Amino acid sequence: MHIHLDALAVARTCAPDEPAILNRPHAAARAARFFVEKFPGKSLYAVKANPSPDLIRILWDSGVTHYDVASIGEVRMVRATLPDATLCFMHPVKSPSAIAEAYGVHGVRVFSLDSLEELDKIVRATTQANGGELPTDLTLCVRLRVSSEYSELSLAAKFGCELSHARELLQAARQVADCLGICFHVGSQAMSPHAYVQALEKARAAIVDAAVTVDIIDVGGGFPSIYPGMNPPPLEDYFALIDRTYESLPVSYSAELWCEPGRALCAEYNSMIVRVEKRRENELYINDGAYGALFDAAHVGWRFPVRVLRAEGAAMSEELVPYSFYGPTCDDMDHMEGPFELPADIRVGDYIEIGMLGAYGAAMKTAFNGFDANEVFVVSDEPMASQYRGDRRDSRVSDNVVSLR
Ligand SMILES: *Cc1c(COP(=O)(O)O)cnc(C)c1O
Repeated sequence: MHIHLDALAVARTCAPDEPAILNRPHAAARAARFFVEKFPGKSLYAVKANPSPDLIRILWDSGVTHYDVASIGEVRMVRATLPDATLCFMHPVKSPSAIAEAYGVHGVRVFSLDSLEELDKIVRATTQANGGELPTDLTLCVRLRVSSEYSELSLAAKFGCELSHARELLQAARQVADCLGICFHVGSQAMSPHAYVQALEKARAAIVDAAVTVDIIDVGGGFPSIYPGMNPPPLEDYFALIDRTYESLPVSYSAELWCEPGRALCAEYNSMIVRVEKRRENELYINDGAYGALFDAAHVGWRFPVRVLRAEGAAMSEELVPYSFYGPTCDDMDHMEGPFELPADIRVGDYIEIGMLGAYGAAMKTAFNGFDANEVFVVSDEPMASQYRGDRRDSRVSDNVVSLR
């Protein structure tokens, strides 16, 4: 595939009529190598953040061997893409047929659970898939409910067993598990490493109370990326605090530390080029939106970095003003509040690059109202922000005006 220099080059040479997704393979590879080399344990990629097979192959080539999958669809897709990957079925509520197919057909041995009912379901479905005998090779991870107070997106309400029920569940799971783990999720985009310390302390309490041997501590996802208004501490700080707290836990001497990054491994992989189709005061009508890659911008007010790409090279105002966006569908909800800072004289026909859409962006596109077309281009420039460049201060988030000579 032809590699373009950057978004401006794509806008200039291709003038895309539909929203265009830009892939940055080098950025995803760099994020993967960072986790593989620096996280003091094993890194599982949380596939739901961006299930693109191209991305998954890049992560594999960069050393990510384990994949956190949450549905039988993800199991089948990752297995078809990576025959040798280790798949971990980390959704705590699964259908019996999904468990049986994952175990029997795709070689999945790792399952998470947060209730006795799910444990029973896993035992029955894997026994059936194992020709009627209880398997002796199961890794079972009990999901604890932990606080999301440090995170931008809560994951505290839906899953996870309360500490008061953890003893019963850990002891029951220990009876059938070859390997027993404890997992949790501190919420997505955790803005402080203390989120993990607090959750690990809860894991400690559960281990002590249940008095069982624990072989895996899985600190889940939540590792942050950089967005406008969200500048988290460096990931090294997270890794150091997690490592120190983990080392003090009463786990088996051969225990393993795992994590499940989604966002942090793929946020920098994609940006998008949209076109301004109409301007009404400071509202820009663009050709992607709430039902496209901007789901989070519309529904949880997430802000993404933007820069204008003016294709015909005329002078452009230096003054930046705040805009909101409307997407292309006929729905009032197709609105992104922002604010998105762009030049005062932006006009119909201008293109905008919207950055950091690799996590929960490109993956969210629907075909609602017939707006599902998009082209994909590969570019070689830096993402609009990066956790992995060494110099975190030199962020191009503010460098949002690019004009053609
Ligand atoms: C969504 C999810 C992840 C990834 O979370 P990020 O915040 O994207 O890192 C990891 N583990 C589980 C179980 C999840 O549901």
